[in-house]
Amino acid sequence: MKTAGIHHITSFVGNPQENVDFYAGILGLRLVKKTVNYDAPEVYHFYFGNETGSPGTLMTFFPEDDMRRGKIGGGQVGITVFVIPTGSLDFWKERLTKFGIAHDEFKRFGETYIRFRDHSGLLLELTEREEGTPSTWSFGGVPADKAIKGFGGAVLFSVYPDQTSAILEELLGLERIGKDNGMIRFRAQGNIGQIIDLKVQRVDRGVAGAGTVHHIAWRAKDENEHEQFHKVLELNQLRPTAIIDRHYFNAIYFQEPGGILFEIATDLPGFTNDESMEHLGKKIMLPKWYESERQAIESHLTPVEVRVLKGDIE
Ligand code: ZN
Repeated sequence: MKTAGIHHITSFVGNPQENVDFYAGILGLRLVKKTVNYDAPEVYHFYFGNETGSPGTLMTFFPEDDMRRGKIGGGQVGITVFVIPTGSLDFWKERLTKFGIAHDEFKRFGETYIRFRDHSGLLLELTEREEGTPSTWSFGGVPADKAIKGFGGAVLFSVYPDQTSAILEELLGLERIGKDNGMIRFRAQGNIGQIIDLKVQRVDRGVAGAGTVHHIAWRAKDENEHEQFHKVLELNQLRPTAIIDRHYFNAIYFQEPGGILFEIATDLPGFTNDESMEHLGKKIMLPKWYESERQAIESHLTPVEVRVLKGDIE
């Protein structure tokens, strides 16, 4: 089996409105689902992505105001990489500057990367590539032709890089395509969220908390392939969870031996499962088993709005 690449990446962050302002307001992503953490419904779960929230574009968050800061380190996705259209890097540099976001420029495997942090300290990068279906979403100061297409990939920080490498190649079917400057590069089958860099050096274990990635999910094309992944995980004694219904996809979680929490998620049914395309992200959506508690759940959540930021209002 070969995954097409990243399905989604989920992180811990601080204030919910700050989170919406950063990813929708500044980065121009669409808030495609406003729901709650199914395992802790007093906490929001936001999904940002392209216009439909297609797999490979989904950046998701558990935002909590009083959450203590974590420490980025081994056993985590170290850097989340977004891909932008070729020729749009200057636009993005100017945009980050306009919003007072410090950024540095790096080269990796011959590509230019702009690295910056969100308000909670999460490490992010932007890079230009031809590959990846253009987003049609435009918001605030980000026109569709400059919009983030989705994930370019991710940089993994492992406690046992050799073992993480083996999981990527042998279990997820990624192809090892190069080594440069302390990174091994892998490529998955798809055209979005497909380039994974693994730091060759062992990284000391990080601490979970605001500003760190909780898990990375890989794509399974359908339920059949998902079940096959589950079998292979069990055979390899990776102790996967049961298959869990996450309403927008089915999920299996397991900890890979390098310490990173991996998930396998199905492409379907997707984010129009309970809202029409035009209404995505407007209402707080709850799974049916929480619907009877809606009032109590909503009363614990501070309302948030997707808004055009001051810097974009001329
Ligand atoms: Zn997930």
